[in-house]
Amino acid sequence: MNSIGLYIHIPFCDGKCAYCSFFSKSGTTAELDRYTDELINKTTEWSKTIKRTVDTVYFGGGTPSLLGHERLIKMLECVMKSFRVTDNAEITLEVNPTSTSELDFSALRRSGFNRLSIGLQSSDDRELRILGRRHSSDDAKNTVDRAKSGGFDNISLDVMLAIPEQTIETLDKTLEFCASCGVQHISSYILKVEQGTPFYNIKDKLNLFTEDEQADIYEHTVKKLNELGYYQYEISNFSKPGFESSHNLHYWHDEEYLGIGPSAHSFIGNKRFYYGNNFENFYNNEIKYEPDGGSKEEYIMLALRLSEGLIFEKYKKRYNEMISDDLIAAAKILENNGLCKVSDKAVSLTVKGYLVSNSVIAYLTETLDNQSKTK
Ligand code: SF4
Repeated sequence: MNSIGLYIHIPFCDGKCAYCSFFSKSGTTAELDRYTDELINKTTEWSKTIKRTVDTVYFGGGTPSLLGHERLIKMLECVMKSFRVTDNAEITLEVNPTSTSELDFSALRRSGFNRLSIGLQSSDDRELRILGRRHSSDDAKNTVDRAKSGGFDNISLDVMLAIPEQTIETLDKTLEFCASCGVQHISSYILKVEQGTPFYNIKDKLNLFTEDEQADIYEHTVKKLNELGYYQYEISNFSKPGFESSHNLHYWHDEEYLGIGPSAHSFIGNKRFYYGNNFENFYNNEIKYEPDGGSKEEYIMLALRLSEGLIFEKYKKRYNEMISDDLIAAAKILENNGLCKVSDKAVSLTVKGYLVSNSVIAYLTETLDNQSKTK
C-alpha cells in the first residue's frame, strides 16, 4: 500500500488577519494544553485504524508555532510513536513571525521537524498592516535567520499577490527579499476576499485589483521568480529543484492523507471525510463524510494544477485505461489559443492557462463521458 500524508491542524492564532476565512481562535494556556492532549489522544486512536506508513507530516493552521516548541515536540513524538513514519519523511511546521521569539528552532529540528513554512505575505510593512498581519518585515527576517541557525535548510515563505495598494515595485521587493533570505520554496497566492471576513465588509473601499490587473501581477510574479531561480511546479508554488513540497504533492497527485483537528480533511480508501469547524466536534470525534473521492475528473483537475500536468502513463496506471482522444483533441484546441501544452506524454497548462484554470479544466473534463467519470 502507498504511504500517506498526515496533516495535523492547529486552529489557534494570536489575532485575526483581515482576509482570513479559516477557522482559528486565540487560546488560553489551558486551552492550548487541552488541545495538545486531545490531539495526542486522537492521533493515537487514528493510528489503530489507519495502519499506514506516513511519508509526510504537516503541522498547519492557524498558527502552529503559537503552541510553543514543547507542545509541538510532544505531538510529533506521539506521531512518530503511533505511525510508521519513514526515515526520510518530510515534516513541516507552519510558523508565523509573531510567535517565534520563544521558539527553540534547534530543539524542533532535533525532534524531527525538517521543513518550515513561514507566513511572510509581504516584506512591505504598510502592506502587512493593511492585511492585518501582526509582524514586520524585520520579524520575518529574524525568524528565517533564527530558523537557519537552528539547523533548518528547507524553508518556504508565503507571499500574497494583489494586496490593496501593492505595486510592482513593492512586489518585486518582497520577492527579492525571499531570495535574499536564501529560502528554498515560495508559495504565492492571489488575495481572495471571502464572505465573512473583515475585508469583505469593506471590499468596496479597498480599491481591489481587477481580474485583468491580478492576471498581470500573477504573470509578473512567475517571470520574476523564475529569474530569481525558483521554478514553478504548481499553479501557486515555486521552488529550487528538489525542494517541492512533498506533502502538498500528495494532494495534487490525488493521493491519500489523514487530517486530524477541527476542519481537517482526509482522503483514505476513496472516502473523503472531515471534522467540522468546531472544537467540541473534534473532541467528540464527530466526523462528516463527503461524496466519494478519487474520480477521474478530480484526478485530472488536480494534475492540471501541476507544471508536469496530466501525465498519460500515470493516468493509465491509476485507472487502467488511456486518456481519451476527446480530451487530447480539446487540449489541442486550447493549445492553439496558448492555454495548454500537449505532448505525446502529457497535457499541461501554460501560465496563461493557469490564469483561467477553472474554465480550462472544466472544458477538458467535460470531454469525459458522464457515465465514466467515477472510478
Ligand atoms: S495567521 Fe493565518 S490562519 Fe491565522 S488569522 Fe492570519 S491568515 Fe488566518
